[in-house]
Amino acid sequence: MAKKVTGRCACGSIRYQLLDKPMFVHCCHCDDCQRLTGSAFVLNAIIETQAVKLLRGTPVAVPVPRENGPHDIYRCPTCQTAIWSDYGNKPNIRFVRVGTLDKPGALKPDVHIYTRWKVKWLTLPKRTPSFRDYYNTSKLWPKNSLKRLNAALGRKGGSASPKTMAKTIRRRRR
Ligand SMILES: [Zn+2]
Ligand SMILES: [Zn+2]
Repeated sequence: MAKKVTGRCACGSIRYQLLDKPMFVHCCHCDDCQRLTGSAFVLNAIIETQAVKLLRGTPVAVPVPRENGPHDIYRCPTCQTAIWSDYGNKPNIRFVRVGTLDKPGALKPDVHIYTRWKVKWLTLPKRTPSFRDYYNTSKLWPKNSLKRLNAALGRKGGSASPKTMAKTIRRRRR
């Protein structure tokens, strides 16, 4: 990345730097994310764990209940700010909370997902793809990002299985 992208928790015990640009940025409107953030949606920058450099402190994993597979939210042990998530026990992939960046406006969502739960007062921009549920990763992600994802997940070349990423964050009730 040309410019240094850094972030931190509220108390400053945790500081980190993104060494690469995220593979993709999700804006998730699901009711889980609304509850976990106390807000209308979450912004997650998906990036290799090895591309996240801790400059100070160590976030602590806090498991949160979820119907479809494990979800650990990594928090500052002091002020409990949520810094990033591990969905589905994928230690090589982090979902970094964009709001913890020093310049949160620097990363825009590449996709809006689970808009079936989207709050009614919010109108999404037409130019950004949006889906009522999840989406096909291999259709939407840039080639280079898919390559990085495969490498991080230890898969050989080819296109990413759309199911794998979906599995990491999809959940279903019904
Ligand atoms: Zn803190
Ligand atoms: Zn969500």
